[in-house]
Amino acid sequence: MSHSYQVEPARADWPQLSGNIYCIGRNYADHAKELGNEIPAEPVVFLKAPSSLRRLAEGPIAFADETYHHELELVLLVGRHLKSQSDVGPDAVAAVTLGLDLTRRGVQDQLKKKSLPWTIAKSFAGSGMLAPFVSAQGVDLTRIDLQLEVNGEVKQAGHTKDMMFPCYTILHYLVTLQNLYPGDLIFTGTPSGVGPLKRGDQLRVFSDALKLNANGRL
Ligand code: ZN
Repeated sequence: MSHSYQVEPARADWPQLSGNIYCIGRNYADHAKELGNEIPAEPVVFLKAPSSLRRLAEGPIAFADETYHHELELVLLVGRHLKSQSDVGPDAVAAVTLGLDLTRRGVQDQLKKKSLPWTIAKSFAGSGMLAPFVSAQGVDLTRIDLQLEVNGEVKQAGHTKDMMFPCYTILHYLVTLQNLYPGDLIFTGTPSGVGPLKRGDQLRVFSDALKLNANGRL
């Protein structure tokens, strides 16, 4: 099987991607609580389409006048072909970044009520906003702080030590469902503090552990 699909031309901060984008829901207890959701017994997994990705710095997205919720997340870039749990070693993740899993919360609430899939609430042009990637070499994925400022005000401040399913647990889980490929992305869930964004909002994501500080706007 060929997995050379490339979302955009390769750049230093935008590695070749496989096209597979996994997202984990309800991975921080405080966020599950703020939305009134149960604490899951195993990871909640959904997908975004590759055409939903864009760089954080790239400006307004396709949907003009809708309110989105921001969900700040650590995003993993899979570095190797992982066929089974025994393949999930320290080099399984090649790079990491911070991303926003933009969500049409009102649409998602309606879909949840009807027990329908969330796809159109989670996958649309610009719904996967990504800061530049940094190498995962030497990075302890259980010790990463992540923060989001909107218009200069801190809206989300989390730490990966609070994940219910840590990054390697997520990899172990996903690889029981299908192979993971170099270039697969995994949005690992959001801490509490999700809230609305409006067009023109200035965004900044940063992490001391990752030495990452990136700006964007909606
Ligand atoms: Zn999310």
